[in-house]
Amino acid sequence: MNEFKYRGNELYCEDVLVWRIASEVGTPVYLYSQKTLENHYTAFDSAFSAVPHITCYSVKANSNLSLIKLFSDLGGGLDVVSGGEIFRALRAGASPGKIVYSGVGKTRAEIEYALDFGILMFNVESPQELDLIDSVAGDMGKKARIALRVNPDVDPKTHPYISTGLKENKFGIRIESAMDEYKRAAAMKNIDVAGVDCHIGSQLTETGPFADAIEKVKDFVSALIKEGMDIRYFDIGGGLGITYDKETPPSPVEYANVVIKSIGDLPCTLILEPGRVIVGNAGMLVTRVLFTKKSEDKNFIIVDAGMNDLMRPSLYGAYQGILPLKKNKGDMITADIVGPICETGDFFAKSREVQDFVQDDYLSVESAGAYGFTMASNYNSRPKIAEVLVNETEYFIVRNRETYEDLVKHENVPEHLRKSD
Ligand SMILES: *Cc1c(COP(=O)(O)O)cnc(C)c1O
Repeated sequence: MNEFKYRGNELYCEDVLVWRIASEVGTPVYLYSQKTLENHYTAFDSAFSAVPHITCYSVKANSNLSLIKLFSDLGGGLDVVSGGEIFRALRAGASPGKIVYSGVGKTRAEIEYALDFGILMFNVESPQELDLIDSVAGDMGKKARIALRVNPDVDPKTHPYISTGLKENKFGIRIESAMDEYKRAAAMKNIDVAGVDCHIGSQLTETGPFADAIEKVKDFVSALIKEGMDIRYFDIGGGLGITYDKETPPSPVEYANVVIKSIGDLPCTLILEPGRVIVGNAGMLVTRVLFTKKSEDKNFIIVDAGMNDLMRPSLYGAYQGILPLKKNKGDMITADIVGPICETGDFFAKSREVQDFVQDDYLSVESAGAYGFTMASNYNSRPKIAEVLVNETEYFIVRNRETYEDLVKHENVPEHLRKSD
């Protein structure tokens, strides 16, 4: 459930008319509903209330400071994947004791930063990374808590670009060789073996792959405990899908029931890393129709947002719903909704039945709260767009629109090019 609803013919976000935000803040603009974010977080977290757990929101889905602050204030932890995300966590005042750090390519500087901050646990993705963490922790006189990310070789049945738990994927350590790595880790002076981690992919719409992965990894956790290792955390990653089009993903409660049943009586605190399921349908991208181009066999609606603002359709061929901010009584047409970028892949919808939009109409691209702004770029020298958080009857600009000056502020023209004669 989300808080984007029509009253009469006009789209509202909570109690604010979306059209008002579009005209006051300008377009394109990302819009998030605070109530929806809270509802989604709470629904997910409370689904696991029967077991000891930490819900670590996956920051890469949407890393706006206000969202990190919101989830932290609700008692959540965070799943981070870079030094930059640790910085954001720090800036938002998140408690380091609930932060897990994943990712295949952590640098020495990032590891130092995380140890300094005092995070809960590193999710380690390779033997060399384990060596590096041991050495950095040693240099700092600290002990690093770690889990190894094991790759259970389970097909998540999702888009290949967002499947991570197959043996051909770059993530984690194959479960067959993980025992040796754990024994090596347990013998390291500066490493505290604290958990086991797996994450099999994103936008999963069935519970089967989660259950399969947990079954496989659970047996492994039991084997580690038998070896005398103090495994306190079982991190099962994120990946629960949402409805973009006609998908029918499990609800958080259905998901939690499967997870809790699969975990059985393992004596571990569960760590969950949801991203998309919390923020995906709590946000939309609002854009304005610049031009319409109609011919006998093709209609184009050219909007002011582009693939640099929201790249999921271009990157994955992903479906995103299209809604008018004001419904008209006109005819429906079949059209491609495209952006201004000089790439044929710059589209939000293809051959979609939509209302017959005219110039200066606003429309909203639905389900844009996750992997929207965080994947945005400045391609075509387009300033990054504003982000707005709606709270009941008010709205707040939680990230300013970039300016042209912002585009060039880190560039230097060397002296010899500056001479003009
Ligand atoms: C991206 C990611 C997540 C979040 O995935 P969602 O599909 O958004 O829930 C969680 N854990 C790890 C390690 C990730 O890389």
